[in-house]
Amino acid sequence: MMAPLLQVSNLEQRFDASGGFFERLRLRNGRITAPRRIVHAVNGVSLSIERGEVLGIVGESGCGKSTLAKTVIKLHEPTAGSILLDGEDITRHGFALMQPIRSKMQMIFQDPYASLNPRQRVRDIVMEPYLENAPGKVHDVQEKALALLAKVGLGPEHADRYPHQFSGGQRQRIGIARALSVEPKLIIADEPVSALDVSIQAQILNLMMDLKDEFGFSYLFITHDLSVVRHISDRIGVMYLGFMVETGPTEAIFESPKHPYTRALLAAAPVLGEPLAAAADEIKGEVPSALDLPSGCCFRTRCPLAFDRCTRERPVLRSQPGGQSVACHLHDATALATSTDTHP
Ligand code: SF4
Repeated sequence: MMAPLLQVSNLEQRFDASGGFFERLRLRNGRITAPRRIVHAVNGVSLSIERGEVLGIVGESGCGKSTLAKTVIKLHEPTAGSILLDGEDITRHGFALMQPIRSKMQMIFQDPYASLNPRQRVRDIVMEPYLENAPGKVHDVQEKALALLAKVGLGPEHADRYPHQFSGGQRQRIGIARALSVEPKLIIADEPVSALDVSIQAQILNLMMDLKDEFGFSYLFITHDLSVVRHISDRIGVMYLGFMVETGPTEAIFESPKHPYTRALLAAAPVLGEPLAAAADEIKGEVPSALDLPSGCCFRTRCPLAFDRCTRERPVLRSQPGGQSVACHLHDATALATSTDTHP
């Protein structure tokens, strides 16, 4: 059996938030000892993506989904865990070793304007990854740039313009053309339509799906929008406080969400398209700080079903009937049958 295109295992991403060099020097010279402040942004996340598959990652703002995306594509070096792309372990690849890998894995960013060099013409922007990966192939650049622009619905008259001469939707089309230039196997899309007008979002999503069908690549698709994730994903992963709390086929999760957090999200956003940030207001309590994770289950401080074991023990993802995997003690049938804990 063929290995998945992307296999991520127990990925951890932590950042030191103790302050900069001068702050640490000031504290040391003043003989003030301050504890290190570590942000636990991604906590033991495992996932896999098959060839041609779309995995949507959904969760509230600040749940670690964008950090997960940037760690998978090695914009951040992972603290622990492993990343295998197309069977190759790239976890500890440095800049030079990552260079050929970048032709297999490209990223589309949330803010298409910030991700485009304002001083470059569009033809140069879209061909940049291609030339980085095949510096000798300069003879077909012009022709390839126009073909890529045509694929995303832009004409040859756009090739010599600069990013500021385009609308938000057109800029995102340019970002997509740039990602396509190296014929990647995986595109990591980080909130690619959330900065666009609602009327433009559907056009860009449809374009992205048409291109996927034509070229056969996979998406790791990060979004906070339930309607977007339902529309485009084959499978979904739900993140909370840097943990993956539920994964499964899209329709199974929407029809029968099992984790209390997933259920609360879906119940609080009955109108698809409502941002999760608003929906999450309906879930009682504050999201705990990633600087100080709760013991046991990451959701226990807000979970209406929490019981004794939830404080003591961190639940792991367990396979469930229907193809879902859930990190919740209520879905650990063996342990519940033998437990003396009181639980709902
Ligand atoms: Fe709630 Fe406990 Fe399940 Fe966590 S493990 S989601 S606290 S019931």
